[in-house]
Amino acid sequence: MKLKHYLWIGLLVMTVILCVLPGYSQHVHKKLGFQFSTVGALSAGIYDGMTTFKDIKQQGNFGLGTLEGLDGELIALDGKFFQVKGDGVAYPVKDEMKTPFAAVTFFRKERTVRVKERMTYEGLQQAIDQQLSSKNLPYAIRIQGIFPYLKVRSAPKQKPPYPPISEVIKRSQVIFELRNVQGTLVGFRLPQYFKSVNTDGYHFHFITSDRKAGGHLLDGEFLDTHAEIETLRDWHIALPNHASFEQATLN
Ligand SMILES: [Zn+2]
Repeated sequence: MKLKHYLWIGLLVMTVILCVLPGYSQHVHKKLGFQFSTVGALSAGIYDGMTTFKDIKQQGNFGLGTLEGLDGELIALDGKFFQVKGDGVAYPVKDEMKTPFAAVTFFRKERTVRVKERMTYEGLQQAIDQQLSSKNLPYAIRIQGIFPYLKVRSAPKQKPPYPPISEVIKRSQVIFELRNVQGTLVGFRLPQYFKSVNTDGYHFHFITSDRKAGGHLLDGEFLDTHAEIETLRDWHIALPNHASFEQATLN
């Protein structure tokens, strides 16, 4: 082949790369939130494992949820999934383990909201709210740092017939108070109109930086908080193909 031919081939390859790559990256990052089942079903006591974490991992590397039998709190961070059991200890989640509810996304930080002052959890929520352009979109939020105080909870595994979640919280939730703890809060802020299918407002699960403890955030104290936020533009709800979901009375 002559030099001219090589140049033409080179040009063709460059054109293909330039045309395909932007489309490809758009394809892999969709700003898409995904949830499996609904919080309403969970509240009603539908704790059967209805899908595997292998499947959930296809939908996101960041998020929260629970495990079969309401066996603790789920935290997904950087593609690693952890289960904080009723003893407050974080255990790695295996792909073949199952969940009744999880919400995940492929998180990519868009912006950081910095709140310097010492704040309660409620104060922090209001401070972040003031920086959001809309209350009508879902946001994925990651807060890394050292926290003066965090109050988190988990719950021990339930046995069928499953009691509703309000009963579990009343009777057997376990509360852990962590002081000057380093780690990451993983969560979402969802619009009020999500209420019938998920938790509206802020919902965080915590994991320590050594990935050994954590739980569902109940309260805390915050100082110089950097909340990393991504606005999600799409939200999918996968509904369980499972008799206990299909036959439940869901309001
Ligand atoms: Zn939670």
